[in-house]
Parts: sequence; structure tokens; C-alpha cells
Amino acid sequence: MKAITLLGSTGSIGTQTLDIVAQYPDKFRIVGLTAGRNVTLLAQQIRQFRPEIVAVCDEDKLLELKEAIADIDPQPILLAGESGVVEVAQYGDAQAVVTGIVGCAGLLPTIAAIKAGKDIALANKETLIAGGPVVNPLIEKYGVKILPADSEHSAIFQCLQGVMVGGLRRIILTASGGSFRDLPIDKLAAVTVADALKHPNWSMGQKITIDSATLMNKGLEVIEAHYLFGMDYDDIDIVIHPQSIIHSLIELQDTSVLAQLGWPDMRLPLLYALSWPERIHTDWERLDLVKAGDLTFREPDHEKYPCMQLAYAAGRAGGSMPAVLNAANEQAVALFLEEKIQFLDIPKLIEKACDKHQTDNCESPGLDDILAADRWARQEVLADSMELGDRILSVR
Ligand code: NAD
Ligand code: MG
Repeated sequence: MKAITLLGSTGSIGTQTLDIVAQYPDKFRIVGLTAGRNVTLLAQQIRQFRPEIVAVCDEDKLLELKEAIADIDPQPILLAGESGVVEVAQYGDAQAVVTGIVGCAGLLPTIAAIKAGKDIALANKETLIAGGPVVNPLIEKYGVKILPADSEHSAIFQCLQGVMVGGLRRIILTASGGSFRDLPIDKLAAVTVADALKHPNWSMGQKITIDSATLMNKGLEVIEAHYLFGMDYDDIDIVIHPQSIIHSLIELQDTSVLAQLGWPDMRLPLLYALSWPERIHTDWERLDLVKAGDLTFREPDHEKYPCMQLAYAAGRAGGSMPAVLNAANEQAVALFLEEKIQFLDIPKLIEKACDKHQTDNCESPGLDDILAADRWARQEVLADSMELGDRILSVR
């Protein structure tokens, strides 16, 4: 029986992780849960999974949560705020922490979990992208494992089982192409939030769905792959694969290529991140290649989607630049979701922030440098978006 703590339990990754725990009660047990502010769902989860400790990030929701679970016996320890989330992440005898929080908000809890000796089932890619220079040495120091739950990185990790050190030559990340893959470039300026939220293959949280539409998600995954597998950026490629059946591939030194295939279902990478190195038998729909039909591939269009190259450039710059890229993206996506900027403003705002950070890029950042770069980039994007707002108003 593996004891796990789940951060971001009310989100897309969180609820799918709990589906797995519910399906395999003899294999997994929940120690801790955290959520942002959805206390109705969190209370149901507490009732079903009986965690020892729970935190809600929004402190104003604590009372509501207390009332919603007043009749439960025994009561879990209830905490609130960012410090509460950190406390849950490092608590008790959980062996693994699933990071289903969205954004750089996952950084401090992930670090706390590592320092408490817990393995990390990593869905929250933003943490590694911003914090790679800090997180990776801590993983070494505390001797914990980082098990990728992002579908592409899980695919690579699965393909790598049994490959000797030095055998890997290239990583090929597949990308669905997102909501606008079949839309001509000249139509992108007018797309709405509702259009961008319609992902063709995956049902996910809002932020990552927008990241998929801009293809920044793939750019972020390039940096994630660099930190997870130690590959140079020259050896990480992207290919568009609209069917999302091949979840990624690796090329070995002798040019042999290995791929991992499956229906687009996040439960599979999540299960493997929890069961590794074991394989658990499931009754999930098995892949039928004939039903899957044609598998096609095309080159990524960098003119239509500049975010991928922004990410490669930030990754190559290293230091605190990926943290700036990530935070600028988080802020720009939030503004787009609030309908304060347009879709094509997202890459422009990110590029501006990264350009400005070039002279200040901190080569080997510590945690404080990363947090400062993150805060700075959000403020920059906010300030620059105001100017955009003024321009849009004056044109009208
Ligand atoms: P989501 O928006 O559906 O869920 C996010 C969860 O985090 C919620 O429980 C929310 O309450 C909580 N949360 C949000 N802000 C918080 C904060 N500041 N502090 C504490 N908790 C907070 O997001 P998601 O789609 O589940 O994605 C989660 C992470 O997993 C992201 O980093 C994403 O890139 C990654 N990921 C998701 C998928 C997917 O299929 N959804 C696939 C690959 C990777
Ligand atoms: Mg992915």
C-alpha cells in the first residue's frame, strides 16, 4: 500500500488521481489533500478518502470547509493559506506527492516535499521550469525520485526503462497542435477565450488548455524535458501529431526510435508515476490501432506559434530566464482568460519580459532569485498589458 499526498486535488489532474486511488484502494492510500478554493468538492473528497491532513489555499474558505465536514469523525487536521499547503506537502508518512497544482505556486510545496524525503509525481511542470536550478540539486541531495506524470515525459520515461546511460540521442516530443491547429494564421487575432478553451483531444484545466492553444505548453515541455532527462536543447525536437496516440519518442545512439502509445487518457501516466517500477493491470480501454486509424505528423509552424521558440531561447539562456518566461506566460494567460488582452498579445508580452530580463539574467539562481524573477515578470507583463489596453482604446 503506497501512501500519497495530492496537491491540487480538485483540478483535472487531482480528480483523475483520485479516480485511480478509488479504483485501487488496496494499492494507494491518501494522506493529505490540498485545493485552491473549491471547498464543496474538497469536502466530498475528504468524506470519500479520509485524509489525515487537508489545506485550502484560500484562507477565506477555511470556515466553510470546517462546517462542510463537521460531522466527519475522526476530523483531519485542517489548514489554510500557502503555508498550509506547504505543511501538507511535507506531512507524515506519504511516500509520494502528486503535484497537481497549476503554476509556480507549486514550487514551495514541491521543495518542502522533497526536503521531507518524498518522491514527486510531477504534473506541475511550471515548478520544474521555473525552479529547475534549485529543484534538481535538492532531488540529488535528498535522494528522492522525480516521476514524470506529464504524458509526453511519462512516454519518454517509459521508453527509457532499460536504456543504459549514454544511450539516449534525441527526444521527440509530440504535440496535438491545440485548439487552433487547423485555423489559418490570419484568423488568430480574433479568436475568443471560448474558442481557445476547446481542446481537440484532451480535457484539462484552463491554463494548460490555453498553453496548448499557443503551443507554449510544448515550449514549456521542452524545458521540462531538459531538466528531467538532462538533454541539450539541440537534442529535443517537437513534432505535431494531431491524433495524440503517440505520446512521445526517443531516438537512441544507433538511430533506433522507441515510442509509447495509448489513447489520450491522463490516468495512464498518472498511474505509472505512482506504480513505477511496477505495472498495474487495468480494465481501461485497450489501444486498437485499427480504430486509431491514421497517425500523421507535421512540422511545427513557428511563425504561427512563436511561443515554442521563445521557450527554446529561454531554456538556452538558462539561469532565471525560464522562470521569467514561465511567470510572464502565467500572467499573460490569466489576462487573456479575463479578456483583458487578445490571444496574439500573449507571445508579445512574454517576449518583451524575456528581452528586458536579458541583462539581469541570474546565471545560477537560488530560490530567492527565482521567486524575485517570477514576481518581476508578472509585474512587467501587467504594466505592459496596461499600455496595450491604452493602445487598443485609442485605436477604437
Ligand atoms: P486545474 O486548474 O484543473 O487544477 C489546478 C488545481 O490546483 C486545483 O485543485 C486548484 O484548486 C489548485 N490551485 C490553483 N491555484 C492554486 C494555488 N495558488 N495554490 C494552491 N492550489 C492551487 O489544472 P490541471 O489541468 O489539473 O493542471 C495541473 C498541473 O498539471 C499544471 O501544472 C499542468 O500544466 C499540469 N498538467 C496537466 C494535465 C492535464 O491533463 N490536466 C496534463 C499534463 C500536465
Ligand atoms: Mg503534456
